[in-house]
Amino acid sequence: MKKITELYASNVFGDEVMKNSLPKEVYLSLKRTVEEGEPIDTSIASAVANAMKDWAVLKGATHYTHWFQPLTDLTAEKHDGFLEPSGGKAILRLSGKDLIVGEPDASSFPSDGMRKTSAARGYTAWDPTSPAFVKEKTLYIPTVFVSYTGETLDKKAPLLKSVAALDRQLRRLLKLFGVECRKIVTTVGPEQEYFLIDEGVYRKRRDLILTGRTLVGAPPARGQEMDDHYFGALKTRVSEYMHDLDETLWSLGICAKSEHNEVAPAQHELAPVFTATNVAVDNNQLMMELMQKVARRHGLVCLLHEKPFAGVNGSGKHNNWSLFAGEKNLLDPGEKPQHNLQFLLILACILSAVDTYQGILRACVASAGNDHRLGAAEAPPAIVSVYLGDQLGALVDSIVLGKTYVPKEAVPGSIGVPESPIFPIDTTDRNRTSPFAFTGNKFEFRMLGASASVADPNIVLNTIVADAFSDAADALAGEKDFAGACKRYTEALFKAHYRIIFNYNGYGPDWETEAGRRGLLNHKTTADAAGEWFKRENIDVFVRQGVFTEKEVIARANIVLETYAKTIRIEAKTLIEMMRQEVCPAVGSYVKRLCDTIAAEEKILPEIAHKCEIFLAKELAELNDRMFCSVQHLEEELGRMRGLPADARRAADIILPAMEEIRALSDRMETLCAADVWPFPTYEDILYSVK
Ligand code: ADP
Ligand code: MG
Repeated sequence: MKKITELYASNVFGDEVMKNSLPKEVYLSLKRTVEEGEPIDTSIASAVANAMKDWAVLKGATHYTHWFQPLTDLTAEKHDGFLEPSGGKAILRLSGKDLIVGEPDASSFPSDGMRKTSAARGYTAWDPTSPAFVKEKTLYIPTVFVSYTGETLDKKAPLLKSVAALDRQLRRLLKLFGVECRKIVTTVGPEQEYFLIDEGVYRKRRDLILTGRTLVGAPPARGQEMDDHYFGALKTRVSEYMHDLDETLWSLGICAKSEHNEVAPAQHELAPVFTATNVAVDNNQLMMELMQKVARRHGLVCLLHEKPFAGVNGSGKHNNWSLFAGEKNLLDPGEKPQHNLQFLLILACILSAVDTYQGILRACVASAGNDHRLGAAEAPPAIVSVYLGDQLGALVDSIVLGKTYVPKEAVPGSIGVPESPIFPIDTTDRNRTSPFAFTGNKFEFRMLGASASVADPNIVLNTIVADAFSDAADALAGEKDFAGACKRYTEALFKAHYRIIFNYNGYGPDWETEAGRRGLLNHKTTADAAGEWFKRENIDVFVRQGVFTEKEVIARANIVLETYAKTIRIEAKTLIEMMRQEVCPAVGSYVKRLCDTIAAEEKILPEIAHKCEIFLAKELAELNDRMFCSVQHLEEELGRMRGLPADARRAADIILPAMEEIRALSDRMETLCAADVWPFPTYEDILYSVK
């Protein structure tokens, strides 16, 4: 094996390779674009393309692809060979134009009518701020995807625009403090949860194959109640998988760092070191793809669905987010936050943004999968609130409620044994239940689903916070007594948005009522939450910050609703097939077996009551009958879906409850059937499949 430090980023066309392979002026020009946000000088494209191609060919690449992120949660790619005929021979070529722009014939991506199949021109354009890389003999060029008429058709273009908006507005604001910086960078470190199961059991479950989750399954005798999986010792097979995955990710410059067993059996987590938002989003997409591919090499399947199994925790993703000006983290409160006017103003702006646009923050993480987690006491509630911790919480309380603020000193800790080291204890504890928690020098947005693109929440977060910075800069520009005005403005924001702060247990039974009293939103399903996108003020903030046009916001909202309805439709169809083709026949045969046993016993052992067989045969025959009716009912309701965004309402209110009814019948039958009868692997078989 190569040394890890040599392996790291060896498949990335990164800074060092560029420095060594590009003419100096070209390298410097490109660096100015990447680091300072200068517009790309297209005249350097040929030189960059050529160097990229030469480097990629040495790495074994034969093809290149414009890699983009359409409005699914996945990535898309179309491969072209470097090979071109030339004078009876062949050469390898990547022209400047090939690098800068591509025109995939890609009419089948979701666009809500922004591209008609008959007039479906779309372009991919190179994004030089995210490095190209080689994977599976192909040079991957990160790109944005736009339509012929200029509408963005992907998640990357608005993400870049949101980062630019935040940079623009925060630089304006910092200037008032006398701080000049070249570029503000937003950073993201996504913690990714997942399940790992054996490929053998996976192949026997149609629901897992077609929908990514189990649609039925009685709870196993042992679930997560012993808390013994969380941080438990890794099984050898899992550990081998994690090492293989680490090396694969490291070679692509993804600094996979922390990994451990999670709460549910077969559940794990992987967190890379944070990086600039744009690269973090690309890396997370790549990470999700490779987590699944590497699993197959080990005879495993990696499930990224938000709720693969009922009754045990599902999987989410924590979006750790902060703002950097050069090396300085602007969310670092410093030693004395009470005197740090700049930090307090930034904090107040973030609170105001999260409170004002809580609806879009909820909506941007809404999906059929994530609806199962939010509010189910395993993930944050569906209500957006902010946790500030003891220190900042007390500070804001002092400002809003006039309480005296007693700064909490960081004290050295010890376990009370002379040999043990002294360690610094943080000034604030952690709260695991909050959707938006301040964790020392960053905010952790915890409502994301495991399979979601990290782009969406960051587009929203950057945009709404940029808007709050913009308001602050407008209000404070030209103030003679800047410090006084800034203090008053900050206090007014804390007071106006105090309701969004909740420093207690978000899983507690009283929070929902309390949140209702505070007037906070509580959208339980995607069908409810997506409505937020259509609200005038929510559209306006994107338009004002130059991130989306009105048409783009509406298109995205409709795509969310359509995707939600389609997902549930696929689940319902899969469930119907599993019941009709597998469960009902299996149960029918078992009832017959029981009746045969009763008949045989009657002959030989007439004095016995055959209670067990009679009870089971009756109960199961009855359940199977009810199952028939429930399946018929679900099928009829499915027939009423029209393939429109409005189907989302029907999916939430009618289809899902009908599926739940079927699940209850199936799970009851499963517990009554003999082990050899059940037609597919049970929860026990799946959750403990990795030995
Ligand atoms: P946990 O929340 O489980 O305790 P960690 O504290 O290890 O996890 O951090 C989780 C993630 O937060 C990591 O991906 C880490 O790189 C990221 N992170 C740390 N600091 C920042 C920051 N300033 N901006 C964005 N992400 C950060
Ligand atoms: Mg975390």
